[in-house]
Amino acid sequence: MRDFLRSVNRIVVKIGTSSLIHPNGKINFAGIDQLAFVLTDLCNQGKEIILVSSGAIGVGMDKLSIPERPQDIPIQQAVAAVGQSELMHIYNQRFLVYSQQTAQVLLTRDVVDFPESRKNVINTLEQLLSMGIVPIINENDTVAVDEMDHTRKFGDNDELSAIVAQLMDADVLIMLSDIDGFYSDNPSKNKQAVLYSTISTINQTLMEQAGGEGSRFGTGGMASKLRAAQRVLDSNSAMVLANGKPPRIIFDILAGVDVGTLFKEA
Ligand code: ADP
Repeated sequence: MRDFLRSVNRIVVKIGTSSLIHPNGKINFAGIDQLAFVLTDLCNQGKEIILVSSGAIGVGMDKLSIPERPQDIPIQQAVAAVGQSELMHIYNQRFLVYSQQTAQVLLTRDVVDFPESRKNVINTLEQLLSMGIVPIINENDTVAVDEMDHTRKFGDNDELSAIVAQLMDADVLIMLSDIDGFYSDNPSKNKQAVLYSTISTINQTLMEQAGGEGSRFGTGGMASKLRAAQRVLDSNSAMVLANGKPPRIIFDILAGVDVGTLFKEA
């Protein structure tokens, strides 16, 4: 079932805030550095890599010494604006250690909803990939609001990463979170929860098992990860949800090792 992962070429990696920021709110430089190392190595192997990264608000909170996530939307957006440029600075630094170029791409939902702008996004990303550059995508938090408090039907970057995977016809979406995969219940509340190795259809039972909330810093939770998986399954592709601590797990995933949860049609 996982053999195909050994030969995938175009890969979208989504990294959640909880993999980029320590629980105490400080930036996880070791994690970001390892992510840069792993993704560069995959590029060097000839694969095409797109990174969808959360973390702008978390990094902004750290930079501005704000201990609690602000509720006020203009403050959230200001913190995201500070954090996004700092996050890109950190990524650029880390990737450049391995001589890998990156590019920032900020998207809003409407951009991918309209055919003209969607085509432009695809063209830009195709161009970057053909130049061997790793696009680092985030939702444009400073102008988009609803996804930050997940009050609309779309999730946060989970769904954005699935949309990008779909637009770019990716072979696999690797979604890195702070949890080992999808469990039969929230493992932080239920120690009996069992990890799914493979899921081929998303049904009501799974949606119920996904519960609602996520972690302190992440915003999507498991429900938005399932919605992302549904989108990926709809486009006949595959998604692996795994623990991004450490990001080196991507090597195992691409070696076909049974880690995380694989979402793929049987
Ligand atoms: P990220 O910030 O990486 O995007 P989230 O915090 O949004 O991640 O979501 C991950 C969290 O979802 C887990 O840490 C866990 O507490 C919670 N969760 C709820 N239900 C489940 C489930 N069925 N399986 C795994 N994790 C779950």
